[in-house]
Amino acid sequence: MSNSIDYTQQNLWAEVILPLAIPKTYTYSVPQLLQPKLKTGCRAEVVFGKNKKYAGIIKSVSNIQPPYETKDILNIIDDEPIVFPQQLALWKWISEYYMCSEGEVMAAALPTHLKLSSETIVIYNDEYGEDFSELDNEEYLVAEALLLKKELRLAEIQEITDTVHVYPLIKKLIDKKVCFVWEAFNEKYKEKKENFIFLNSAYHNDEKLNELFNTSRAPKQMELLLSFLHLMKTEGEVSQADLLKKSGASAAQLKGLIDKNILLAEQRSIDRIKALPKKGEIKFELNEVQQKALDEMNEAFTEKDVCLLHGVTSSGKTQLYMKQIEKFIAQGKQALYLLPEITLTAQIIRRLQMNFGGNIAIYHSKFNNNERVELWNKIRTGEVKIVLGARSALFLPFTNLGLIIIDEEHDASFKQQEPAPRYNARDAAVFYATLFGAKVLMGSATPSLESYYNAQKNKYVLITLEERFGGIQLPEIKIIDTKTVAASKKGKVMISPQLKASIENTLSQNHQVILFQNRRGYTPFLICGTCGFIPRCHDCDVTLTLHKYSNKLHCHYCGKTYPKLIHCPACGTVNWIEKNFGTEKIEEELAENFPDRHIARMDVDAVKGKNAHDTLIKLFEQHRIDILVGTQMVVKGLDFEKVNLVGILDADGLLSFADFRVNERAFQLMEQVSGRSGRKTGRGLVLIQASKTNHPVLLFVQEHDYKRFYENELAERKQFYYPPFSHLIRLTLKHRDKNIVQEAAYLFGDMLDKSFEHIVGPASPVINRIRSLYLMEILIKQPKDAVHIRAQKKVIHNCIDLLKAEKKYKSVIVLPDVDPA
Ligand SMILES: [Zn+2]
Ligand SMILES: [Zn+2]
Repeated sequence: MSNSIDYTQQNLWAEVILPLAIPKTYTYSVPQLLQPKLKTGCRAEVVFGKNKKYAGIIKSVSNIQPPYETKDILNIIDDEPIVFPQQLALWKWISEYYMCSEGEVMAAALPTHLKLSSETIVIYNDEYGEDFSELDNEEYLVAEALLLKKELRLAEIQEITDTVHVYPLIKKLIDKKVCFVWEAFNEKYKEKKENFIFLNSAYHNDEKLNELFNTSRAPKQMELLLSFLHLMKTEGEVSQADLLKKSGASAAQLKGLIDKNILLAEQRSIDRIKALPKKGEIKFELNEVQQKALDEMNEAFTEKDVCLLHGVTSSGKTQLYMKQIEKFIAQGKQALYLLPEITLTAQIIRRLQMNFGGNIAIYHSKFNNNERVELWNKIRTGEVKIVLGARSALFLPFTNLGLIIIDEEHDASFKQQEPAPRYNARDAAVFYATLFGAKVLMGSATPSLESYYNAQKNKYVLITLEERFGGIQLPEIKIIDTKTVAASKKGKVMISPQLKASIENTLSQNHQVILFQNRRGYTPFLICGTCGFIPRCHDCDVTLTLHKYSNKLHCHYCGKTYPKLIHCPACGTVNWIEKNFGTEKIEEELAENFPDRHIARMDVDAVKGKNAHDTLIKLFEQHRIDILVGTQMVVKGLDFEKVNLVGILDADGLLSFADFRVNERAFQLMEQVSGRSGRKTGRGLVLIQASKTNHPVLLFVQEHDYKRFYENELAERKQFYYPPFSHLIRLTLKHRDKNIVQEAAYLFGDMLDKSFEHIVGPASPVINRIRSLYLMEILIKQPKDAVHIRAQKKVIHNCIDLLKAEKKYKSVIVLPDVDPA
């Protein structure tokens, strides 16, 4: 593919990707006038359907007339491409591999501000003010109308201006920050600001400092200054809050030093890039084990493209990532560091900024559209070298990518579930890297079975770190048999006496505790003790969870809430039995048992606000919380110094899902959450409550034995022909009518039967109705042969078309999910 186009041609046609779930791209003719601006990767304004306009991406240009009538491109919006051939190739690969349209990939890839259609609503940016002197006549007209009406659809703007160049006009207004593109659920982004303290550069030499210490008559201030210098040395940067806390000084003493112009204070955002100086060299030293791993890695990269770093929790993987980043940016390349969204906390951001300063940019869902477009452009021009981001950062317009790091590569959140493209960013990254000749470094304490298998088969190079940093031992793991507790007490055991005693012991030593339970809410389900009635969601086939904070029953599948029931709607009695327990109930029980302690909860309900998650982590870090109870959120990548006890409250719950990955997920969760214990202050303890105490997964966790877990699990996967031995495609059919979806599924199954050997189903899934739609599933297992798989995907597409050709099944939704998580 090339951007340069031969303008001597008289007639040109452009293939355009529209951000829609339509199966193919469309071809438009390019009027002579627009030909000089024509470049692949630029946006073109086109009409699609009756009258709707869209900004599509020019995918390719041809001088061969298509055998049908074409419409003209109306405008070319960009002067320079906003995506490059590598991004277009990635979109194409994702659409083919994950069985969706390129338009769906485009919709996921581009920030909202770059996606325009006649339905797009533009809103006025109040911060722009009312000074329009910088605007030309057309811009002025639109700006004035927007100031008056606050928001307008692009179709309405078209009427106001009577220009034919509305899209380029809107682009200019967005660039000048006169307006935004409105986005549903667009929460206002608040910059996270903090006061940072610096030393006046006049004191950046020892002589000057010594003189100051010798002559000062304010000993308290000098103590504070010493603390500052110490922190600066160890942390690289010093926030006011940190300094006051660690030095024990007062705000007045700090103000004294600032007034004397010895220290300076500056309000700085902790996740924006502007204020930080650009750095590329890192300051820490690796230990011997890490250095050995780094050497192996460098060696491996001379021959192979993908390394899998299997390092136990707290073994210092991040430092190795940073060393690799340093190496690649020194070569003038860009680096992408992917993390699960939830682990993108201030903690990791700070660590990277300490070493790379303004060279690192952050890309995640908390950022508003303006910032996303800003970053998009900085990467496009190569100004930004390192990006730390969640899944969707893969779509940024890199031009010179040298390295992709995928931390916590086993994490299921790298796979997008809804909507399409249902891609796995980890696997797509491996393909993407080949387009640049870039290297991929995956890391995990609990690698996915697929990645580890690839390493065993020499597709990837395996590098292991078996020691924790600083020689701290992995925690001791004890299993508490809840059957013996349950016998003496009624109902499900929440906090066993053994666990309670350990919590008391840990707290008395001034350490902290993390408790993990994979269910949120208060009671996951209620049952009427008189007649057995269980409250369920009207639209989904699931039981409702009681939440105390809202005092309502919640459906965790569609989000609907219902008032709390007093009388049983079936028999009229008031006799509810609470089954099982969620994080809210644990928090309540802890408050009763430990009234003098600070207890906090970390789950999606508790961290709803923008900064709530980071704030909670910070409070825990500063030991202003003694016990933290939470869901998966407490599992991921957090580094707390003083946690010496982790409790896993219900291991049975983790091991009882009906999914072939159940053991893998349970092992990963338990091993990861165990890793939070005893990271700095000596060997930690983990208590696991379970009733099936001889479950093999529990024993592997107890031994921290990934290798045996892997071999055991691999044997089972082989026996039942699951990944990594087969390639899976799950097809979900949805419809409002239960009979129609069932009939369609059987017909569809028959069609597929002719071409596929291993089909499971059609069957109705465990939860067979969500949001009023009935579900049926078919699972296809195929040999792992790329050419074969490509052909078979065509067969599936054909079968879907055939099914939909039947009038009765036209409205049945069929969703293919390749490599389902
Ligand atoms: Zn009842
Ligand atoms: Zn529901």
